[in-house]
Amino acid sequence: MDKNNDDIEINSFSFLDDKNNIDNKENNSNDEIDHHTCPICIHLLLNPILTPCKHSFCLNCYLECSELSSKRICPICRSPIPSTFEPNIDKLYTQKLKELYPDEIKDREKYLEELNFLGKEFLRLRINFGNTCELVEHKGNTVFRWLAHLKLERDEDAKKYIDYVLFELHPTYPGDKFLKITGHPYEVQRLARGPFTLHMTIYFTSIVESPPLKIDHFLVFDGDGITKNRTIKIKLKPPTKSMKFLKMLSEP
Ligand SMILES: [Zn+2]
Ligand SMILES: [Zn+2]
Repeated sequence: MDKNNDDIEINSFSFLDDKNNIDNKENNSNDEIDHHTCPICIHLLLNPILTPCKHSFCLNCYLECSELSSKRICPICRSPIPSTFEPNIDKLYTQKLKELYPDEIKDREKYLEELNFLGKEFLRLRINFGNTCELVEHKGNTVFRWLAHLKLERDEDAKKYIDYVLFELHPTYPGDKFLKITGHPYEVQRLARGPFTLHMTIYFTSIVESPPLKIDHFLVFDGDGITKNRTIKIKLKPPTKSMKFLKMLSEP
């Protein structure tokens, strides 16, 4: 009998790692894993999102796909996707997958990070910003106390890619109009008589090549306020020589 390993059935995670650390898991879990597979990349779902037609994709795969085609349709059933649809990561499902497949998810995250860093130089970040507000009494007047925020989907991303956010207040505010906020989520709270446009500028860390990014937010003082999402694309600095060398070694 042939004693070499050629006949080992490579499990469905072999894509994660071409040669190095295929940890031959027992194959009986594969059926279940298939159930949690992204139909675009055919890998275990990473940061899953759910379309209105109830199809799940990795956030990254979905964004890449919707960037390629001008029409917004589901890559699987081709149902139109409303332009207002925000692909938000299903946090509960993400948590469940992390519990079910902790090692595989870690590998997937590592893979995605390497892909983003070595391959494309570009990275997408999901930004969530807006404001809440409440009416308060101040020196005999009723005014709005607003709290503006800007945050990223993942705390780790903020630490890694964002240096600070500069909030620029309306010129009528006394004192310094520029507030440099370094802690994530980035927040500023003040009082106002009426709404105005708050300028927020994101300054990135040294590993990012993109210039600072300005986001304008017109404060909403109706009801509880507003929250919006935006996907931004940042360019990372090219890999260093040693990274390139490592990549060369890992290529066939
Ligand atoms: Zn995918
Ligand atoms: Zn669909």
